[in-house]
Amino acid sequence: MIVLTSEKEIKQMLEACRISAEALKVAGEAVEPGVSTWEIDRIARKFIESKGATPTFLNYNGFPAAACISINDEVIHGIPSEKRILKDGDIVSIDLGAKINGYNGDNAATFACGDVSDEAKRLMDTTRESLYKAIEAAVPGGKIGDIAYAVQSYCEERGYGVVRDYTGHGIGKALHEDPSVPNFGTAGRGVRLLPGMTLAIEPMINQGTARVKVLPDGWTVKTLDGKLSAHFEHTVAVTKDGPVILTQI
Ligand code: MG
Repeated sequence: MIVLTSEKEIKQMLEACRISAEALKVAGEAVEPGVSTWEIDRIARKFIESKGATPTFLNYNGFPAAACISINDEVIHGIPSEKRILKDGDIVSIDLGAKINGYNGDNAATFACGDVSDEAKRLMDTTRESLYKAIEAAVPGGKIGDIAYAVQSYCEERGYGVVRDYTGHGIGKALHEDPSVPNFGTAGRGVRLLPGMTLAIEPMINQGTARVKVLPDGWTVKTLDGKLSAHFEHTVAVTKDGPVILTQI
């Protein structure tokens, strides 16, 4: 079931989204060589809690932290650990959400740790840009397939693999709602976009194969070929005036 969110409710949801965005910014600023992913998670969690919000991911389906932190060939759902120390040249994907006023925000970005390779920069730039192409397609009267096609065409034209096994999602009172928002598909197909839909759009883009595997920890998703992966996400409202990025600060 797709829940439509009124303009008044979107204003309530905006607080969760702004806190999520600020927490992501603070977490991203902590990315540097020598820092553990556990420390970054702690910074994000403390920030969210300091705003009176709840870290949405903590204990969600048993996830043990406030942020998913995925390094290099890890795509998503990396578990923060004191043993994971960031190194110069790593790329670090941080995904986190906050809940307040009964609503959720969700966002992600990949950050450079120190000096990263030109190949890594190109992957991150392409993934970020594909997110904005997708957001441009989130207009009333369009279809979910328009969003999917925007990501897939932009990234595949540049030689990258678009992850199929995980998708974006509706978001509101629950972290994951209908509809599913894939990053691959055909323009003009799928669910019709209506004002009041609130969507987490989140391209996960691989340097090589689109194929991924889940590690024995049951969470961490890695590229099958060990090449790099990047992930950018915003929570977006479809409004009669066009897309509004709720997690933009
Ligand atoms: Mg999400």
